[in-house]
Amino acid sequence: MVLTFPNARAEVLRRIPVAQPAIKHVSLESAAGRVLAETIHADRDYPPFPRATRDGFAVRSSDVAAVPATLEIIGEVKAGSEFAGTVGAGQCVSIMTGAPVPLGADAVVMVEYTESLQSRATIRRGVAAGENVVPRGSESAAGSAVVQAGYRIGFPEIAMLASVGRAAAPVFRCPRVAIIPTGDEIVELDRAPSSCQIRNSNSYSLRAQVARAGGEPWALPIAPDEITRLREIIEQGLTADLLLLSGGVSMGKFDLVEQVLSSLGAEIFFDGVEIQPGRPLVFGRCKNTWFFGLPGNPLSTMVCFELFARPAIAQLSGAAAQPLLFPRVRLSKPVRVKPGLTRFLPAVLGGEGDDPTVELSGWQGSGDVSALVRSNCFVVVPPDCPEMNVGEWIGVLPLER
Ligand code: AMP
Ligand code: MG
Repeated sequence: MVLTFPNARAEVLRRIPVAQPAIKHVSLESAAGRVLAETIHADRDYPPFPRATRDGFAVRSSDVAAVPATLEIIGEVKAGSEFAGTVGAGQCVSIMTGAPVPLGADAVVMVEYTESLQSRATIRRGVAAGENVVPRGSESAAGSAVVQAGYRIGFPEIAMLASVGRAAAPVFRCPRVAIIPTGDEIVELDRAPSSCQIRNSNSYSLRAQVARAGGEPWALPIAPDEITRLREIIEQGLTADLLLLSGGVSMGKFDLVEQVLSSLGAEIFFDGVEIQPGRPLVFGRCKNTWFFGLPGNPLSTMVCFELFARPAIAQLSGAAAQPLLFPRVRLSKPVRVKPGLTRFLPAVLGGEGDDPTVELSGWQGSGDVSALVRSNCFVVVPPDCPEMNVGEWIGVLPLER
């Protein structure tokens, strides 16, 4: 069955449930990229005290309703200490950024708007109640959820975990992702290829993509285009959580992947998607393992991975797949393609700041790795837009490195 791009992606996300893998604890230093297995709660109020966000004077805002106003300085408080007394009418306390605002005061006047002489401060600008103060518990109240289970841990979550005193994070075990390159012409990197052989690049790009997606890559040997050995290696790969095959899914006489998987009892959910590159993509399940038969051309393999295998790995990791967004950018050169397929064409996103532009890199087709090396995104051409002109808005899929 051949599906449109949106339907094929929806099918993958519908079929693969968000898993609940086994839990382990990892140190915060190695938690980046892992999926949080338990919701983390605040151990106390954040901030734990009304925090001054400026250097200046803690005042009662009503005292500076009319300015200039002269107040009595009754003390000083810096970050890490506390002022013991209470600020009364006509009084203020010299305060530094990060210090607790003393009782009685309800705002901080920036030092730039004051002058002080001995125990007197002249305030030149009024402040509203609450100005330059973050109220206690306003960021997170004690006991409230600060990071939800199922979140992928990035640097903000690491800061949050550290803030609440968690030196280790409960995370889900990473799904194991088997990678099988196929093809009689494919040789390993430690062999000199003959004039008609191709080095195995897909295993390596896939390993990098799997690791970045949160999976644990497991590279298997190259499978020849021969049923018995291909079947043996596939059976090995089916012991993983997800199996990725590259090559052998087109219409050629020696494209045997689908046939071998079917003979092993596979259920195939689709075996084609209306995209370029990557049209012959296969998705199915065999012996309780999900699999993708990725078309062997390197760009097809990479694009299909990003569009389909990456969200699959997210769900198998216990994290709901993120929506796929194609931010729109203005074209700086026209695009002409045949209609009917959603196309992901290597392109260069340039320009400056909030005025980016994009143009196609030019490629020799889906085997052209060098075109992708020169690119930093894919332009996403919808199936019904064969002609797009300079200045038109077009979606892009950024290529992260
Ligand atoms: P296939 O999908 O098997 O028809 O392969 C399509 C193209 O991708 C052929 O030109 C293959 O040589 C190439 N190819 C297949 N597997 C790999 C691989 N592991 N590394 C690099 N190129 C490959
Ligand atoms: Mg092949």
